[in-house]
Amino acid sequence: MRRSVARRLLDRMFLAGEVVEVEEVAARMRRVRIGGEALAGLDWTPGQHVRLFIGDGGLLGGVLRTYSIWRHDPTWEALDLIGYDHGGDSPGASWIRAAEPGMEISFTRPDGSFVTQEARYHLFAGEETASVAFGAMLRALPEGAAAYGAVEAEGPGDHLELPKELVKVCRGGRPAARSEVLVDAVRELDLPDGPGVAYLAGEARTIQAIRAHLVNERGWQRRDVRTKPFWTPGRKGLD
Ligand SMILES: Cc1cc2nc3c(=O)[nH]c(=O)nc-3n(C[C@H](O)[C@H](O)[C@H](O)COP(=O)(O)OP(=O)(O)OC[C@H]3O[C@@H](n4cnc5c(N)ncnc54)[C@H](O)[C@@H]3O)c2cc1C
Repeated sequence: MRRSVARRLLDRMFLAGEVVEVEEVAARMRRVRIGGEALAGLDWTPGQHVRLFIGDGGLLGGVLRTYSIWRHDPTWEALDLIGYDHGGDSPGASWIRAAEPGMEISFTRPDGSFVTQEARYHLFAGEETASVAFGAMLRALPEGAAAYGAVEAEGPGDHLELPKELVKVCRGGRPAARSEVLVDAVRELDLPDGPGVAYLAGEARTIQAIRAHLVNERGWQRRDVRTKPFWTPGRKGLD
């Protein structure tokens, strides 16, 4: 009885869906398609995310973890997320690892302001987790829009395939936190003169270092740099 009351409360606060398809799309990255009637006609802007309610079904027994929408078409009754399995036993990584068709999941409506702006050109930088949002954002850019960027993954061949080729770099066993590999890759990009708009996502301290490079070494204004920290060592469920 108590469980069904909790279930009804959950259904009021969240959209209800079910995993309908899972695919390995890159090393440690799984595309999870969530289907359900609630997803038909759902509004979203590429770059936005949903929060999954991960738990045993009770309101007090769950936590929220955030995942960008990789793809959604309002005519579908489905949306695609791509989760990176960072290897820990934390709720998000464990859910991504265990996801299989038939699993029920509650989640919030699409949300977030990490979306593309009008710009002379667009610059993207981040690691695996960020590449999911970047894929959706790149796919939605107007035809002919100029896009540059660098994406980091653990090893060669581990990168998520994106709609536009960005520079790929590998950290090769080094930490993704405060990643000098990624900062150096952005430093080496041959960009047009003057600022565009930058979208930096992923590990918080890496983002700070890339923003410092753009502002201090390239002379960009801070307002030209959109940042969205997705995770950082020692913190849980950022956002
Ligand atoms: C707006 C937004 C969009 C996001 N989109 C995506 C997405 O599309 N795909 C995706 O995979 N993730 C995405 N993330 C990141 C994801 O929410 C975090 O990685 C989250 O911490 C995973 O939850 P968890 O329960 O596994 O770990 P948590 O309980 O949150 O964290 C526990 C510990 O795990 C470690 N950790 C967490 N994430 C990573 C990581 N990526 N690499 C190494 N160590 C890590 C840290 O040490 C952390 O302290 C997004 C985050 C935000 C805020």
